Amino acid sequence: MEKNIKKILETLENEGYHAYLVGGFVRDYLLGTTSYDVDIATNALPKDIHNIFNSSKSNYGSVNIKFDNYNIDITTFRKDLNYVNRRPSNVIYIDNLEEDLKRRDFTINAICMDKDDKIIDPLNGCEDLNNRTIKMIGNIDTKLEEDPLRIMRAIRFASVLDFDIEKELYEKIKKYSYLVETLSKERIKSELEKILLSKNFMKALKIMEETNIASSLGISYSHINYVDDLLGMWAQVKVANIPFTNVEKGNIIKITEVITLGQIDNLALYNYGLYICTIAGKILNINPKKISKMYNNLPIKSKSDINITSKEISDIFGTGKVIGIIYSELEKEILNENIKNNKEEILKYLKKRK
Ligand code: ATP
Ligand code: MG
Repeated sequence: MEKNIKKILETLENEGYHAYLVGGFVRDYLLGTTSYDVDIATNALPKDIHNIFNSSKSNYGSVNIKFDNYNIDITTFRKDLNYVNRRPSNVIYIDNLEEDLKRRDFTINAICMDKDDKIIDPLNGCEDLNNRTIKMIGNIDTKLEEDPLRIMRAIRFASVLDFDIEKELYEKIKKYSYLVETLSKERIKSELEKILLSKNFMKALKIMEETNIASSLGISYSHINYVDDLLGMWAQVKVANIPFTNVEKGNIIKITEVITLGQIDNLALYNYGLYICTIAGKILNINPKKISKMYNNLPIKSKSDINITSKEISDIFGTGKVIGIIYSELEKEILNENIKNNKEEILKYLKKRK
């Protein structure tokens, strides 16, 4: 294990506490991937953790430490009481690891590892990890009613890890599908983004359809080509009321427009730029190298590149609206390579047009 993470565990142990890695980090480690999101569970109280690590930041009683790319949350063993709106209205700190594990969502997320890499697994998460199964800890009805985000997490893990959702949990997801409507749109967005960034996203979409989550969330799509770009995915998967920033919204619309064109030509590159066209190109199965070569070879990249002045245009056509019209026409003719971008040829074209 990374030596700085080991050091954190050892520091807590040396102070007389128990401390274990838990959650996604251990799960991913056992599956052979490194996660930079690290969760540590301990019986040290938040104030003790603060004292030991000299930290000040704390949310929901957990202490956050960042180094290199690691984001480490140290959380006191706890029991959640009386959930209201996805949050326990009360948390009590406890001195028992197994109790802490029971409040978690899935068995694969409740495997622990100590400072010596020893696995501690009272809820048999390793078995489910080996069987590639997502199984809820405790009473499924209670767990889903307490926090419907667990529905989205189950579907996310099923697709990202390519695991199966255990049968009873699957049926209960159907039963409680309407509960996802109570989740905040930001939460839904962030879970869907993790799904859409995974090549296996279709599995999640299929599960969401079968369990009615798709209709609860207002998800619609036709054919989707996987692209390693979130906005490219959002341009293909429509979901009601997702809180996009204005920039995101604008780019999604542009990508959609280029996909609708069905091809990338000079005019598209000129109007939408290289970034949008590269993403749309990936969706349209057009080689990005070809697109960037086309972009570099564009005869003009903006109106100001056109080799004619507005004075020269007004000398032929007079002033007013006509200048803008002529410029737009020239743009098109030059980009479509009907005329070259040099003054002589442009003037010849304009005189003829008049
Ligand atoms: P990842 O970090 O890859 O998204 P993760 O499982 O580590 O996955 P986190 O949000 O980092 O997810 O949560 C850390 C751990 O906290 C989980 O593994 C799980 O044990 C517990 N946990 C997280 N969210 C919930 C929840 N909604 N209900 C119950 N337990 C949860
Ligand atoms: Mg995590």
